[in-house]
Amino acid sequence: MASGYATLKSRPLKLVFDIPISRIEKFWQGLKEGKVLATRCRKCGKMFFPPVADCSECYSQDMEWVELSGEGELETFTHILVRPASFQDEEPYTVAIARMKEGVRVLAWIKDVEPTDLKVGMKVKLKADTTLEGEPTYVFVPAE
Ligand SMILES: [Zn+2]
Repeated sequence: MASGYATLKSRPLKLVFDIPISRIEKFWQGLKEGKVLATRCRKCGKMFFPPVADCSECYSQDMEWVELSGEGELETFTHILVRPASFQDEEPYTVAIARMKEGVRVLAWIKDVEPTDLKVGMKVKLKADTTLEGEPTYVFVPAE
């Protein structure tokens, strides 16, 4: 595998947020309600996903939660056949990055599609989902 896979190998999609634990609860709650939430700076309007508490553009801490439309365009994807030890129980999977309508890039697994059917530029939908362990998460599926 190429060296670019290094970070994916150790723990492909551990969700990491630069946001206080007291405020991240809203994100998980959103997923449980079927919403994927981002944060947006009230001062300069920049949107962040995964959500952050501080704007890297203008250093404001005045952030608001916004629900993503879920509409995105596939930018790149990687089909992972050789899985890290911690993922041996899972089927081979595909990780994708899509640019959402709102302008943010999202990294997530893509489901319900054959890897051979994936094309850069195709429309995808980001939606709330549940992991095999029952934890809330988010995935891409092909848009209809
Ligand atoms: Zn800002």
